Amino acid sequence: MEVRVRYAPSPTGLQHIGGVRTALFNYFFARANGGKFILRVEDTDQERYSDESLEDLYNTLNWLGLTCDEGPLVGGPYGPYVQSERFELYKKYAEQLVSDGKAYRCYCTSERLEALRAEQQAAKSEMQGYDRHCSNLSDEERSELESQGLTSVIRLKVPTEGKTTIHDVLMGDITRRNRDVSPDPILLKSDGFPTYHLANVIDDHMMHITHIMRAQEWIPSGPLHILLYEAFGWEAPLYCHLPMVMGKDGQKLSKRHGSTSVRDFKEKGYLPEALMNYVSMVGWSYDGQREFFTKEELEKVFSLEKINKAPGVFDYKKLDWFNGQYIRLKSDEELAQLLLPYMLEAGFVSEPLSEDVQAKFVALVPVVKERLKVLSDVVPLSRFLFEEPQYSDPSLFLAKNVELSVALTALEGAYEILKKGFAGNVSNEDMEQSIAALATELDVKVNGVFMPLRVALTGSSVSLPLFDSIFLLGQEKTFARIETALSVLRSEG
Ligand code: GLU
Ligand code: ZN
Repeated sequence: MEVRVRYAPSPTGLQHIGGVRTALFNYFFARANGGKFILRVEDTDQERYSDESLEDLYNTLNWLGLTCDEGPLVGGPYGPYVQSERFELYKKYAEQLVSDGKAYRCYCTSERLEALRAEQQAAKSEMQGYDRHCSNLSDEERSELESQGLTSVIRLKVPTEGKTTIHDVLMGDITRRNRDVSPDPILLKSDGFPTYHLANVIDDHMMHITHIMRAQEWIPSGPLHILLYEAFGWEAPLYCHLPMVMGKDGQKLSKRHGSTSVRDFKEKGYLPEALMNYVSMVGWSYDGQREFFTKEELEKVFSLEKINKAPGVFDYKKLDWFNGQYIRLKSDEELAQLLLPYMLEAGFVSEPLSEDVQAKFVALVPVVKERLKVLSDVVPLSRFLFEEPQYSDPSLFLAKNVELSVALTALEGAYEILKKGFAGNVSNEDMEQSIAALATELDVKVNGVFMPLRVALTGSSVSLPLFDSIFLLGQEKTFARIETALSVLRSEG
């Protein structure tokens, strides 16, 4: 039997880490088994649907390189792959359930259902939800209601006795009493729109899906889906509900923890291979040790058995670490290409790049490469090369517990060391040592000397290592900036 799996998102928001992990697991499972990876757009919720989300879905899959074997953009034998284009089908099958006696038309008005809910709440009655009011209407009663112009929905007849079991590859059998399944849920709304449950089950069957890998929050819908398969007389696929993705605090990953949308990660400068690798390790592991995998490797080694039953923790720091590793794997040329958009966006450079700028870039890339967590870090780290520092806040020159007069003396001293050092071909290490020795002389911590120097060169207290900054700036600019900074400090003193 050929493995056929699907990623079936609803385009009601940006693709987030949890969704992408579901997509990845499905994709790798399909590849590892020589099966098919299918994309299906579940856009039955027209109120929450947005074009932007749909576009974001396609962009995300494309950016990660998750190619679909069948889907809205590539077509396939069981299309269309967008639910809003399949409404006729859902209607036909819902009506078939009615004629088979597995479902029925309900004419209850929203007022009646509202009143019912209020009544149930007030009575704190054990029976919650629809009261099966229309489940036994006779043909005459139905024609009567219809002649009054009442519209109807189609509801599934959920058995009141017995139990339903979901066979879950990961979680084992999950069994629920049928009377705990919400009574007679709507399958087809009065406007002819299917509900999620109906469309989902019909499509998985029609598309010959063999394994349903989806988030664990869908487990509560599972019994209803099985009941639907039974009502149709179809065999249900195997389930594999995926453990949640949590933040470090044990709560479901959400905006409170940080960015969750793939688009944000992309914009900040995470590489697709790093995100893919790290997200694949959230709740899955190869041997509990190895964590670095290319996409091609995961396409071979992925297996369901190695999915963790416990929720996976999404650790932003760890992702940063992965990203840094992948950045360092890039050649300087590749990295330059990747950094360029950030430099353009910051207004540091403009296209076409002048020779001068190109040279700066060539020098910059290997220096920042070691220090980038995300590509956008290049902006704060290299601003000093493209903009003159403003020194508008003299307190920036002061390390903790250092007075302005001491910072001034420190900067003067460091300047002398650099001037003499460069004139006499002294090594960077020796100059650095002399500057550090100056700190001892002035009875301050090393930062008391390096801070004013760093701020003089870059205008910022966070920067590349001192001699890297000097190298990139060149001697002339370095000295000019120190002099400007000295006069600012003197005028403050
Ligand atoms: N459209 C559902 C979602 O957005 C799909 C659930 C499923 O995979 O069955 O998560
Ligand atoms: Zn009714």
